[in-house]
Amino acid sequence: MSYTSQQWRLQSRPHGAPKPENFLWDEQSVREPRDGEVLLRTRYLSLDPYMRGRMSDAESYAKPVEVGDVMVGATVSEVLESRSPDFEPGQTVLGYGGWQTFSTERASTLRALDPDEAPVTTALGVLGMPGFTAYAGLLAIGNPQPGETVAVAAATGPVGSAVGQIAKLKGCRTVGIAGGPEKVAYLEELGFDAALDHRSGDLVEQLRSAAPGGIDVYFENVGGAVFEAILPRLNTFARVPVCGLAASYNATELPEGPDRAPALMGLVLRKSLTLRGFIQNEFVPTMFEDFLRDMGAWVREGKIQYREDITAGLDRAPEVFTSMLDGGNFGKTIIEVSG
Ligand code: NDP
Repeated sequence: MSYTSQQWRLQSRPHGAPKPENFLWDEQSVREPRDGEVLLRTRYLSLDPYMRGRMSDAESYAKPVEVGDVMVGATVSEVLESRSPDFEPGQTVLGYGGWQTFSTERASTLRALDPDEAPVTTALGVLGMPGFTAYAGLLAIGNPQPGETVAVAAATGPVGSAVGQIAKLKGCRTVGIAGGPEKVAYLEELGFDAALDHRSGDLVEQLRSAAPGGIDVYFENVGGAVFEAILPRLNTFARVPVCGLAASYNATELPEGPDRAPALMGLVLRKSLTLRGFIQNEFVPTMFEDFLRDMGAWVREGKIQYREDITAGLDRAPEVFTSMLDGGNFGKTIIEVSG
């Protein structure tokens, strides 16, 4: 049978926040699977901050999407046709089909999902790449110890919410930072010991009362003004897993003002700080199995809660993506492509 895939392609590289004209809506017939391949219908598409980096051709850890190519992204899909002994029609799989309604993918890149074990959308969030990022970055780099204080921003998102809840399970005091009162209220529901609003204008004051004994682990998701407010509160020997810098993904130039690098390096030296960047793939070989076991159990037992922000319709992907970069999402951002 032949299928036509509706898709979003990169039309031009954005300068600043992505705009509608950076995306092109297109239709293409879907290539039949060859040996070892599977033809898939996309059910859910994950939208993630890293995609902003892929739209740009600045030097990065991964190749950019070429202008004219389909936007990349993780997908939960249904197998329609299989030329692999490992998959059969009707199965649900996690793949990397991108921003389109159908895809043909190599079977070796897919992971079968069991809908009876967990809702399939969790493979894009709490039980997928973002949840793993939180688990690996916090445990391998943050090394949180019972009684220590762990702070994280973008704390209602899939990475930040998992960081806070895992830290709590490890016996830490947790400080969550998010944008706006509704998100702050949700942080309290999740069990953060302190929930702060970075949009209220007095984050430095809020941090002083929320972490009187200082911060031992700051899981860096955003950078910018939040990082500057956190810096003076870091304790000697604090660890900073540098996971993401969402506040500056749309930036077109360096912030105004004096060069802050000497002050930062002075603090790193005086307080024996560890700032360690990471891309989650680094830890897949050593930690992914442990993650699936631990996180799977924590979610089943209700010890880790999660929230998904699902919008119906692939046509809405560009606006939902652009809004997420600015905090418009509330939980893991997912597009329901065909349900
Ligand atoms: P989120 O769903 O949390 O979305 C990003 C959030 O960033 C927004 O919702 C917003 O939350 C916050 N934000 C945006 N601008 C600002 C700002 N100026 N100041 C403070 N906060 C801001 O994203 P994820 O959970 O998917 O990802 C979190 C971070 O982790 C991102 O930086 C991402 O790039 C990174 N990441 C890194 C990986 C790695 O391997 N290193 C892998 C996966 C993710 P709010 O409204 O609360 O401010």
